[in-house]
Amino acid sequence: MPVTAKKYTIKINRELCKGCQFCMAFCPENVLAMKKAKAVVINPEKCTGCQLCELYCPDFAIEVEKKNE
Ligand code: SF4
Ligand code: SF4
Repeated sequence: MPVTAKKYTIKINRELCKGCQFCMAFCPENVLAMKKAKAVVINPEKCTGCQLCELYCPDFAIEVEKKNE
């Protein structure tokens, strides 16, 4: 498997997302951004799986899952 392969899947529930930007602010890798007042994934390959976004989201709108290897 190439080292650049994406290892984590980030799921954002657009119904639950309130656009508070916490996830974007806490992500150390700039994986997330805001689009039309909702969180979106812009750099999925940079995700380290730290789960800070999931932890800080007050609306439980983000789930980070490790991909099967
Ligand atoms: S798991 Fe960590 S690196 Fe990945 S999107 Fe969330 S905060 Fe960013
Ligand atoms: S922290 Fe949660 S509610 Fe806030 S912008 Fe991110 S996904 Fe949306």
